[in-house]
Amino acid sequence: MDLYQHLLQLDQQYIWHPYSALGSELPVFPVVSAEGVRLKLADGRELIDGMSSWWSAIHGYNHPQMNRALENQLKNMSHVMFGGLTHPPAVELAKTLVDITPDSLNSVFFSDSGSVSVEVAMKMAIQYWHDKQQPDKQRFLTIRSGYHGDTFGAMSVCDPVTGMHSLFKQSLAQQVFIDSPTTPFNEACNSTDLTNLRSALEQHHSQLAAFILEPVVQGAGGMRFYSADYLNKARALCDEFNVLLIFDEIATGFGRTGKLFACEHAQIQPDIMCVGKALTGGYLSLAATLTNKEIANTISNGNPGVFMHGPTFMANPLACAAANCSIKLLLESSLESGRESNWQTKISQIEMWLRESLEKCTQLIDVQNSRVADVRILGAIAVIECKAPVDMKKIQTAFVDKGVWIRPFGKLIYLMPPYIINRQDIDVLCNAIYEVLE
Ligand code: PMP
Repeated sequence: MDLYQHLLQLDQQYIWHPYSALGSELPVFPVVSAEGVRLKLADGRELIDGMSSWWSAIHGYNHPQMNRALENQLKNMSHVMFGGLTHPPAVELAKTLVDITPDSLNSVFFSDSGSVSVEVAMKMAIQYWHDKQQPDKQRFLTIRSGYHGDTFGAMSVCDPVTGMHSLFKQSLAQQVFIDSPTTPFNEACNSTDLTNLRSALEQHHSQLAAFILEPVVQGAGGMRFYSADYLNKARALCDEFNVLLIFDEIATGFGRTGKLFACEHAQIQPDIMCVGKALTGGYLSLAATLTNKEIANTISNGNPGVFMHGPTFMANPLACAAANCSIKLLLESSLESGRESNWQTKISQIEMWLRESLEKCTQLIDVQNSRVADVRILGAIAVIECKAPVDMKKIQTAFVDKGVWIRPFGKLIYLMPPYIINRQDIDVLCNAIYEVLE
């Protein structure tokens, strides 16, 4: 039996994949290596990556500088506990994160995944109000179509339908949901969105620890883009009603939407912010929760006077070294060999290429009986929303046959390529989508 079949057979027998059944009929594809924007399958086929491994591999794979940073760190130490010890990669990374995130955020709690960083953010908010002698403020307000992770706290603020709350009803905290904003990205927040938010705050503020949401782009809960001005209004209303504001920038952070952090599309600062995914350039799992002085000091001077969380692999030195290198690459990245450019130029170039290359799909919106309901593009994100859910088995195989790695969900086919992608490869990805939809 060849390697490809051998891997598939054992995989089917033993392994759970994300959101799947054991021994599922849905195809999985064995990957043996990856380089630049290409994944190499065990049978030798190469796929152009349109996913950046769930938004994380922003510099592509097997990047020489990233590899070197990790090799160097490996020679010093791969891991050490963070209780009572600290180390250079963590100190450097914390300082950098404080420097590049909104001004008010100036302390950092490291954790090992996005979901855990959301748990940490929620615990910080609850502990803050506890120490402010307002222990009833334990619930969270959020918008529908959100996604914040798969652990219980995070799951409680995911969209109740796509997050399948009914399945976990007895175990999940009951949070307050409002409709996700309907105002388009570039427009001033409409009165419906504003009224929804105000009335939820009016009704529940005495129980609310925080309003948690993904700024500007809702990712895995529906790939929706919404008004940056909504965030301005959210900030003002949260202040008015004494509710903290948490931004989950795990998917949007590090340039993806055209700003370094999506909250920069608005002119406001969250009280707590989560980052993950692209933090390490997709090399290792690491996340961070940042907060402001008021929250950090209140918790640190409160009772019990310590923040109650501490994962084993907190601030893993290899992961921190990867993050330090990835952020350096991002902030001083080179567009094509020999030509220096900043990340913003790169993202706006990808945005333009996506617009041009997906024009054919955009034209399908108005064609009767076409499958396309909407095409939306922001930064290095392109979303093609279909009128009906796609047939995953068929579409995944069709994409692989066309030499591209694109993984749709529900009605959504989307592209979030690594930032090093060139025009030609964008065209191959976009043509594959058009042909498959046709
Ligand atoms: N928040 C957002 C906005 C996300 O997109 C994700 C992951 N898709 C998470 C949280 C959870 O991160 P992780 O999968 O690393 O736990």
